[in-house]
Amino acid sequence: MLRYPGGAGSGNGKLNGQIFISLLNPGIGLLFAVAFFLLWLNHRERYVAYAAGAYVATAAAFLIQDLSPVLPMELQRLPANFGFLLTGMLFAAAIIKRYALPIPWRAMTITVAVSMTVFSWFLLVQPSIAARIYSVSLGAGVIALMIVRALWPLDRPYVIDKVLFWVATLSALNLIIRPIVILSLGGGFNDYVGFQQSVYWTTVQFSQAMVSIMAAISLMVAVALDMLGDLRRQVDDDDLSGLLNRRGFEAAAGAALRRCADAGRPAALLIADLDNFKKVNDTHGHAVGDAIIAAFGAHARATGPGDMIAGRVGGEEFAMLLPGAGIEAARQLAEAVRTGLASACGDQIPPTLTPTTCIGITANVPGASLSLLMRQADEALYAAKRSGRNCVRTFTPKPVLLATA
Ligand code: GH3
Ligand code: MG
Ligand code: MG
Repeated sequence: MLRYPGGAGSGNGKLNGQIFISLLNPGIGLLFAVAFFLLWLNHRERYVAYAAGAYVATAAAFLIQDLSPVLPMELQRLPANFGFLLTGMLFAAAIIKRYALPIPWRAMTITVAVSMTVFSWFLLVQPSIAARIYSVSLGAGVIALMIVRALWPLDRPYVIDKVLFWVATLSALNLIIRPIVILSLGGGFNDYVGFQQSVYWTTVQFSQAMVSIMAAISLMVAVALDMLGDLRRQVDDDDLSGLLNRRGFEAAAGAALRRCADAGRPAALLIADLDNFKKVNDTHGHAVGDAIIAAFGAHARATGPGDMIAGRVGGEEFAMLLPGAGIEAARQLAEAVRTGLASACGDQIPPTLTPTTCIGITANVPGASLSLLMRQADEALYAAKRSGRNCVRTFTPKPVLLATA
């Protein structure tokens, strides 16, 4: 039979509503701990493991607080409240780690130590429930503020980043303001029976359940979005060059071209193909060929503008879309990429080898489709190959022959 201090369930077997409220937080905690553990099995990031740990700690803390037998000197309060603070610590670690920021373990440990020392003093030396509530709630509030402080300087481009920030802020406010407001309204408590059934503890249980659910759902959405992002990167990225692959390039460039068309902006496209690459592979080995492809990717990224969309669209063939650019900007970039390629390879390739590339470029009026630009740049590329390699050529439309009657 479930027992809890001062409860009706222990004597006459008649359960009142209190026990269900008491089971709410451990139940939610355990459910979310299992959910985060399952997520972690599929997405082995440390922040997901911290989140699972936080919900194990919260479940254990509420179980001890509400349902454990009363020990002499109410010593069960110590592990229970340590559990609450540990929850805060692990939760802070989970959110901060998601942003790959340093976790303030030292500051959090000191906060927990101070909080628990004050708590123990007001449990064992000079018993005061109100003072104990302040010490634990403020300690946890300070830890929540550490999340706010860590996330404060970050850009929050996605809704989920804003949500996580505000969940942390709300938790901090809840933990810091709640005890002050409610205790000042209702006064202190003389014993734990009063405490367990008090407005304060019922409010804690409900507001904590709400914050706990909100935080878990936000973090789960964050994990799901991170997993989707990983999958998208795997589907769209080319590992060797560090650029997009053909699929990724076509999707991103197509979208960028549509945005250009909507804004009435032009766009330019470059297609580069490494020269005599079969011979490079045959003479120096496949690994050297790979090193050139990797160097080309890094070099193109470093040379092109930030809004350039670049991909490896074939074995040794690359495409670069320049939103808003005209033919002159495209030609300058193409020349910079072509002339800088050999030095970009550095000591990754034998000194006797000087890799070169041909580049075809085209620029078009707003509204041109990607496939049209690709055909035009390809045509210019073949003109470059025909004229002896290691050069840039621009697409020139063929004169239109007007049929005469
Ligand atoms: P051209 O100057 O006319 O472009 O001659 P090429 O030899 O570069 O053209 P070709 O199409 O005959 O050969 C392309 C070569 O690129 C063949 C293939 O072995 C090599 N290649 C394609 N993908 C990779 C890759 O991922 N790594 C390496 N090392 N080589 C690749
Ligand atoms: Mg080729
Ligand atoms: Mg080639």
